[in-house]
Amino acid sequence: MKISLNRVRDSKNGEIAFSYDIDFRDVKCSFDQPFQSPVHVSGKVFDHAEIMEAELLIDTEVKTSCARCAKEIQFPHSLKLNYLVSEDEHSDAAEENILCAENGELDIDEAVKSALLLSMDMVYLCRDDCKGLCPGCGADLNEGPCSCKKEIDPRLSVLRDLLEK
Ligand SMILES: [Zn+2]
Ligand SMILES: [Zn+2]
Repeated sequence: MKISLNRVRDSKNGEIAFSYDIDFRDVKCSFDQPFQSPVHVSGKVFDHAEIMEAELLIDTEVKTSCARCAKEIQFPHSLKLNYLVSEDEHSDAAEENILCAENGELDIDEAVKSALLLSMDMVYLCRDDCKGLCPGCGADLNEGPCSCKKEIDPRLSVLRDLLEK
């Protein structure tokens, strides 16, 4: 959705509010496409004594996999963002809380996409103490010790018992 700043200025109470869903199923984040659920966006763009501001509330669900055991994980993800709106297309958009208008319009979908990608962690775990997969046999160690451990030479198991203490 694009919001024209002139429309905001001309509106009765100096604001345009919106609420809609975006489909970001194709958006890639590292090796994943974590936004398989609709991304709900609500917010407004408002004219505050000659200063334009935007408020966004993003609500969705992230679907990814555990970095250690590859199990699928899904969790709700919401963001609340406040921006100053800049009409200077050449202004430094590197500043996170500035939203730049292009041809007098704000691209809300683009803003939501970059905010979501910025908010993602590099690594997600199914639980903090996930034991991961055995590098030897690939078994999920959260479900108990795998068979490779049992194959340790009995003469070494004394040593292993010592190490595990
Ligand atoms: Zn895991
Ligand atoms: Zn194993």
